Amino acid sequence: GHPNSHSKGGRIMAEGSKRVVVIGGGTGGYVAALRAAQLGASVILVEKNALGGTCLNRGCIPTKVLLHTAELASAAREGEPLGLFVKEARVDWSVLMRHKEEVVARLVEGVGFLLGANGVEVVQGNAVFRSPGEVAVTQEDGTVRPLSADAFIVATGSVPALPPVPGFDLPGILTSDGVLGLEMLPKSILLVGGGVIGIEFASIFSALGVEVTVVEMLPEILPNLDVELVGYLRQILEARGIRFLTSATVKSVRALGSGYATAVTAGVEEEIVTEKVFVCTGRRPFTQGLGLEEIGVRTDRGRIAVDERMRTSVPGIHAIGDCASPIMLAHVASAEGEVAAEAIMGLRAAMDYRVVPSAVYTAPEFAGVGRTEEELTRSGQSFTVGRFPMNSNAKALIAGMPDGMVKVISDRETGEILGMHVLGPRATDLIAEGALAMRSELTVDEIVATIHAHPTLGEAVREASLDVLDRALHLPPKG
Ligand code: FAD
Repeated sequence: GHPNSHSKGGRIMAEGSKRVVVIGGGTGGYVAALRAAQLGASVILVEKNALGGTCLNRGCIPTKVLLHTAELASAAREGEPLGLFVKEARVDWSVLMRHKEEVVARLVEGVGFLLGANGVEVVQGNAVFRSPGEVAVTQEDGTVRPLSADAFIVATGSVPALPPVPGFDLPGILTSDGVLGLEMLPKSILLVGGGVIGIEFASIFSALGVEVTVVEMLPEILPNLDVELVGYLRQILEARGIRFLTSATVKSVRALGSGYATAVTAGVEEEIVTEKVFVCTGRRPFTQGLGLEEIGVRTDRGRIAVDERMRTSVPGIHAIGDCASPIMLAHVASAEGEVAAEAIMGLRAAMDYRVVPSAVYTAPEFAGVGRTEEELTRSGQSFTVGRFPMNSNAKALIAGMPDGMVKVISDRETGEILGMHVLGPRATDLIAEGALAMRSELTVDEIVATIHAHPTLGEAVREASLDVLDRALHLPPKG
């Protein structure tokens, strides 16, 4: 019968069903637990903190709550050309924080509900390996509960990584954990790091009226994304008043009055005074105190080493998500969770990282999937690029959001889609079409042959595909 049938009805487990223990209840861990339960395993999930992990409590979700309100505020302020006159678009930070807490609480509760409904037992506590077949869980009341299992899935996530810069340990210096708990909006903020997290916060804070400076060590923000669109986005953000210092290094930070003075070298040295300093220089896998070395699990520069089925060097122990993954994203963590659960339950599953969409929630949004022009040029592959500007798309104009472009890259010989990059309204939703097309190895002709509804932003994807073939209908002829 269906592999689900014997786990239906919650806790009723098949005689002799596999015992799986998942360590960590973030996006990776809870999805792995659900999938293993669907496949008939007897599953226990251990979480020392809140279900949902970084993504729900301190990451993807709370940041997007802030961003949504920031966008509404900008829309209200910039609505006059669209005929919208709002007397005062004022963001009340404490009300916004309450809304954020409510959304998070609701989603965390939802995860708990789903786990229960699938018969997964949740054990609150900190798990440490005692042997390859057993963990000891220290529960809140101090009691230790040993848990043995046929298979373990380690999903302990990541934590902010702070470089050893003098002053980063001063009280009040923010990481992404603290910034979401701010009681008041600061007047000014300096962000150290121009990666995805930094740029999203820069966009949010700026829309909320905060004076924002971003310091990035590399020559450009958002490394590894499409260079043309990154430059376009930076210009838009600069025009909104965000200051970017690239090829710039933070030397030190010192407390100054009720804020901080940060010494930055970008050719010349400069001291930048702001009310807050937020270090977002990346994250590192979290495996501290888990006892992995003691049982022989191999790590590679702090990351748990795994194969394409998420197996570690120790049989029976799998690892997924930020603590093991080459890509630290929520949707990658959950995909790996499903693969690990399926591998444990005897299905043929393996990770394939070729088609992983990435999303940057700025205003406008930015998203990409597959290869960039830069990567293809480096690898010597011949390709064709089609572009379609958002200012020629009806839906974008209706929304008063003409900034951005869709870029489709295809193999010059076969027409197969090699990458799609989008800057503009709802880019993070539009990218799903590119991911599906690439996953299905479609060619540009197949996107072109697909009728897209009118008026939609998706039409820009079709037009960019037409442009690959020099057939764009809503662009003047080239040359
Ligand atoms: P986590 O979510 O970190 O969960 C790990 C869990 O394990 C935690 O709950 C922890 O308490 C628990 N744990 C650890 N050790 C133990 C132990 N010994 N015993 C018991 N429990 C333990 N990704 C996106 O895809 N899109 C986004 O928009 C996005 N935005 C982000 C914004 C911010 C500000 C941040 C910080 C991250 C963002 N991410 C985003 C990344 C995303 O949050 C992570 O990739 C994702 O949470 C990884 O999931 P995970 O399950 O591997 O780990």
